[in-house]
Amino acid sequence: MTERKRSRSGKKPPAKKMAARSTPGLAEYRRKRDFRRTSEPRGGRRRAARKLAYVIQKHAASHLHFDLRLELDGVMKSWAVPKGPSLDPAVKRLAMQVEDHPIEYNVFEGTIPKGEYGGGTVMVWDRGTYEYGGDEDEDDPVDGLRRGYARGDFKFALHGKRLKGSWVLIRTRRGDPRRAQWLLIKHRDEAAEPGSDVVEEFQTSVATGRTMDQIAEGRKSRRRTG
Ligand code: MN
Repeated sequence: MTERKRSRSGKKPPAKKMAARSTPGLAEYRRKRDFRRTSEPRGGRRRAARKLAYVIQKHAASHLHFDLRLELDGVMKSWAVPKGPSLDPAVKRLAMQVEDHPIEYNVFEGTIPKGEYGGGTVMVWDRGTYEYGGDEDEDDPVDGLRRGYARGDFKFALHGKRLKGSWVLIRTRRGDPRRAQWLLIKHRDEAAEPGSDVVEEFQTSVATGRTMDQIAEGRKSRRRTG
């Protein structure tokens, strides 16, 4: 909280300098991509949001998967979930951690050129905000998120358009923290729907209403200029 207050009250540096500011957490993300060829964002621009961002992007790359991204400390912590989320608390979905992504990536919808890293179609499948979902008397919820993440027991509550309620990511395999394996599980609450298939139910973008085919064929969405 203190950091955010400070950056809000501080004088805004010019846009060029902001874009050039280095973001060490995004080094791997940038190394994998050629920004002259892909319209994905380079990242590093700051955002003065007070709520933590949440997005799931459906990504038809070499294998179809769903990229779950949760904002923490200025980047989007990211997991590739091959089968996507399930609202059924009995279902555990494998979530493979991937490199942190820039917050600007959350609005990316379109096509990554063939042959480039992650080449294929990307849809904004769900988005919204999220918050700490652990112990209710935690006096620093963001720190609660940090500790949960570090421990491999990451409890959070989603306020998306399609996904809501309480969830947990449990790390099952350590090693390189950017290659760890986790399980994504819905907690039992009002938002749980045993037996449902939310990934099958929603086939369009929450941002543009387009299907994967329409995105693949289509013109660029209006918010992208690249
Ligand atoms: Mn992906």
